[in-house]
Amino acid sequence: MLEEKTFEPKTLNFIEEIIESDLQSGKHRAVLTRFPPEPNGYLHIGHAKSICLNFGLALRYGGKTNLRFDDTNPVKEDVEYVDSIKEDIRWLGFEWAAEYYASDYFEQLYVWAQELIVKGLAYVDDQTHEEIRANRGTVTQAGVDSPYRNRSVDENLDLFARMRAGEFADGDKVLRAKIDMAHPNMMMRDPVMYRIIKTNHHRTGNKWCIYPMYDYAHGQSDSYENITHSICTLEFDIHRPLYDWFIEQLNIFPSRQYEFARLNLTYTVMSKRKLLELVVNKQVTGWDDPRMPTICGLRRRGYTPSSIRSFAEKVGVAKRPNVIELSLLENCVRDDLNKNAERRMAVLRPLKIVITNYPEGEPELLDAVNNPENPAAGTRKIAFGKEIYIERDDFMECPPKKYFRLSPGGEVRLKYAYIIKCEEVVRDSAGDVVELQCTYDPETKSGSGVRQVRGTIHWVNPANAICAEVRLYDRLFTESHMDDIPEGTTYTDYLNPASLQTVVALLEPSLKNERRNVQFERLGYFFQDIDSTPDSLIFNRTVTLKDSWVKKNK
Ligand code: ATP
Ligand code: MG
Repeated sequence: MLEEKTFEPKTLNFIEEIIESDLQSGKHRAVLTRFPPEPNGYLHIGHAKSICLNFGLALRYGGKTNLRFDDTNPVKEDVEYVDSIKEDIRWLGFEWAAEYYASDYFEQLYVWAQELIVKGLAYVDDQTHEEIRANRGTVTQAGVDSPYRNRSVDENLDLFARMRAGEFADGDKVLRAKIDMAHPNMMMRDPVMYRIIKTNHHRTGNKWCIYPMYDYAHGQSDSYENITHSICTLEFDIHRPLYDWFIEQLNIFPSRQYEFARLNLTYTVMSKRKLLELVVNKQVTGWDDPRMPTICGLRRRGYTPSSIRSFAEKVGVAKRPNVIELSLLENCVRDDLNKNAERRMAVLRPLKIVITNYPEGEPELLDAVNNPENPAAGTRKIAFGKEIYIERDDFMECPPKKYFRLSPGGEVRLKYAYIIKCEEVVRDSAGDVVELQCTYDPETKSGSGVRQVRGTIHWVNPANAICAEVRLYDRLFTESHMDDIPEGTTYTDYLNPASLQTVVALLEPSLKNERRNVQFERLGYFFQDIDSTPDSLIFNRTVTLKDSWVKKNK
């Protein structure tokens, strides 16, 4: 379990203020929150925010959190999603007190619906979906009462029982709450409580053919579990009067709903419908494509649970809609990996160097520091040799001023090794540079302190290097505010064609069995892909060392 201090608040957010006041006044003795996903897709970073908030509050106040699958719509839901949701929550570092399904409460919800009918607070309506919508009125105009609104209690009980028994077809009848068709809040204009859906449910099979609507199921499920603080996103604020109305009429445990602003991220879409479309239309390789904002995508890319928790903490709890910079998430993983990831050498676009005055024979073993941020990580040996590879980008034939890497006649330090000088440029028949002939200064071995040059570059030794496919990821979309794209365009118009670039890289041999996050020196943080094998290595770039996007788009 997580350490308490991860959740130490700097100042209280508005939900914490409410909780502290509820605990002080004795309204509640303990906090019970819930995370209520609908199992109709994989969790994304927005859900991670909600998970961290719900579980984090319970941890901080010594309470508990339930996991409740909101499985009231059999058409879109699946067990595959249930399993992935549980895996993702555990991976984030949280454990729920109890696992429930809204479908476990179908019988109880049915009994409560009968109770509302008996109290004259619910009725069976024969109007079609379209008629109901048309008769709801508008914000400025009252709705029209249904001709079936004044059915007797007995008739309603009978019809409702027959709805359950499967006597009617989908859409023939619904059960509605009897509130007020002129209510200023449209949600209160006799909202639908049950509809008929003759579809197999992933848990209840064909037992039910009537299914409760979100508004009728959610609050009652909260109440049934004695949830004290039911936290949801802002769109639900207009549902709150209805949430309270059902609980008051049924006189059951007074759960209360609190709304906060949903997490939106730049360069990202977060609706499950759109993410599913990307998967189905093969614009990404799956829900866990490392470019996806899903938790499984972020995990595959190399994000750590603690970086996501720290992101959720930094984002805070807002009451107004906002859009958070993707770079904030990237900075969180950078900070974490800077402290914790060991450094290794890798060359993504190799250029051959031959050190003409270096002796032939046994390789020289040099000390390389595993993590300058963490001395306890120690050092390792790397083999130097007469022939090495450097990054093609670290050589320029006609360098601008203040270019401190390699150029004809120029010097550079090879990290952990020596200073070399570029003596000659070798080209192929097409005129492309294929090799640099260099000399090295044997006096300048790393740590000797003999003399300094401005630039230091990384390298690998082909004698023992391994090859790997390296996947360089970039943002999936080119537009920052994907919720605000011009009319007439659709989100897929903004897919970034350069969101994935693949190169074959040379890596130092210790990377072969490295399943932890690593830094490729000077390049970024990388993580072995789940499809990687010792014979066919694949590394994903989690994030670059610095935010390169800001500069590129200025
Ligand atoms: P989507 O709109 O992506 O389909 P959803 O709200 O339908 O998501 P649910 O499975 O119903 O997904 O969400 C489970 C919980 O996660 C809910 O309490 C919901 O409010 C919360 N949640 C979903 N998206 C976000 C988000 N972007 N930021 C914060 N919380 C979110
Ligand atoms: Mg939802």
